[in-house]
Amino acid sequence: MSVLVFTENWDGKFKKLSFELVSYANKIAEMLNTKAIALSIGNVQEDELKKLSNYGADKVVSVQNDQLNVLDNQAYTSVIAQVAEKEDAKVVIIAHNNMGKALAPRLSVKLKAGLGSAVTKLPTSVEPFTVYKKVFSGKAFANVVLKSDIKIVTLAQNSFELIENAKDASIEQFDAQIGEIPTTVKDVQKQEGKLLLTDAEIVVSGGRGMKSADNWKPLEELAEALDGATACSRPVSDEGWRPHEEHTGQTGKIIAPNLYFAVGISGAIQHLAGVSGSKYIVAINNDKDAPIFEAADYGIVGDALKVLPEFIDAVKEAKAK
Ligand SMILES: Cc1cc2nc3c(=O)[nH]c(=O)nc-3n(C[C@H](O)[C@H](O)[C@H](O)COP(=O)(O)OP(=O)(O)OC[C@H]3O[C@@H](n4cnc5c(N)ncnc54)[C@H](O)[C@@H]3O)c2cc1C
Repeated sequence: MSVLVFTENWDGKFKKLSFELVSYANKIAEMLNTKAIALSIGNVQEDELKKLSNYGADKVVSVQNDQLNVLDNQAYTSVIAQVAEKEDAKVVIIAHNNMGKALAPRLSVKLKAGLGSAVTKLPTSVEPFTVYKKVFSGKAFANVVLKSDIKIVTLAQNSFELIENAKDASIEQFDAQIGEIPTTVKDVQKQEGKLLLTDAEIVVSGGRGMKSADNWKPLEELAEALDGATACSRPVSDEGWRPHEEHTGQTGKIIAPNLYFAVGISGAIQHLAGVSGSKYIVAINNDKDAPIFEAADYGIVGDALKVLPEFIDAVKEAKAK
């Protein structure tokens, strides 16, 4: 048996997320006294594939086929299922992000496997296999027992650290059977020059407390100084102060950056549902009793329009050192 981890690459390069997933899979493999096998789908060069072994992969299975260069949920699910069967995988680990949320339920049906989604730490027990997961948009947590022979776990972003554990992993090319793919992606138009909110490690977000669209300049300036992206609460995009693609929360984007600035945001539960996976939250609010301070790791009580310029100067000064 084995633990299989599906790693994601972007244009042939792995991001930190994939190494976190491999670190996590390796720990579960240790708990089960078995091997961690990393699966990569798409065109990734051998030196990049080898990086997966630095985080504990005992073997890397690479499936390269031009038909798989763009995500197709059915084709990817079929490939993961074939590799899971070949490697006798009893646990399959996938990221709890947009791709993972599309693949995991399909795979669960295909493999007749129990699915523990948005898991935030290592299983609390392997016999029975019990995972600790977020429920009700992160308002509560539950211990869930997966009783099926094969288990699927989607790992919430930023919930497991990188653990270096270099191994001499073999790299195997696998020729998966890919039937006819029912959809064809004709072309992909990437937004140029703008960091995608879901990719950003640092996000600077503004709420209704910013008062008007005209006051967004300091938020953009702070995001730029920190190489981050900008976001907003829902009322802000409803007002048309910012585009809808920037709205985070229950009805918007769900993000998990390393650092999230909530500026003039009250911290409603619907907003937190989209950002509570952030590693650190910094709140700037003029109301010391605002609920955002309950969720924040660091807080500044003050008028955002006065605090931000000083904050930006301090960031620039620190960067210049
Ligand atoms: C079904 C449903 C789904 C929803 N989905 C979402 C969602 O996905 N995302 C989302 O964001 N909301 C969502 N909402 C709305 C949510 O309930 C809140 O109303 C919203 O998040 C509040 O936005 P806000 O914090 O920007 O504004 P407010 O609640 O008005 O808060 C503004 C904050 O700014 C502070 N402030 C005021 N002036 C200043 C100043 N000068 N300096 C510093 N701070 C200042 C205030 O103290 C206050 O805390 C949803 C609601 C429902 C019912």
